[in-house]
Amino acid sequence: MPAKRVAVDYSKCRPEECENGICAAALACPHKVLRQEAPYEYPLVSPSTCPDCARCAEACKQKAVKSI
Ligand code: SF4
Ligand code: SF4
Repeated sequence: MPAKRVAVDYSKCRPEECENGICAAALACPHKVLRQEAPYEYPLVSPSTCPDCARCAEACKQKAVKSI
């Protein structure tokens, strides 16, 4: 798969609606491209590219994560 980047749409992202405030998308990322510093905080995206495996997008019920 081609290398890409992902972006979080912070207008859709609602950590308070995710189980225990844990970002399911960050949890699903095997490369730590997405990371959450603490529960209930917005996830951050590292500037590196990633393999575009789409696990993050599939894990986010709010559809807040996209490939760009
Ligand atoms: S990106 Fe999705 S899974 Fe992660 S905190 Fe936001 S709404 Fe929850
Ligand atoms: S597409 Fe895969 S590697 Fe890239 S941020 Fe999402 S889960 Fe991580």
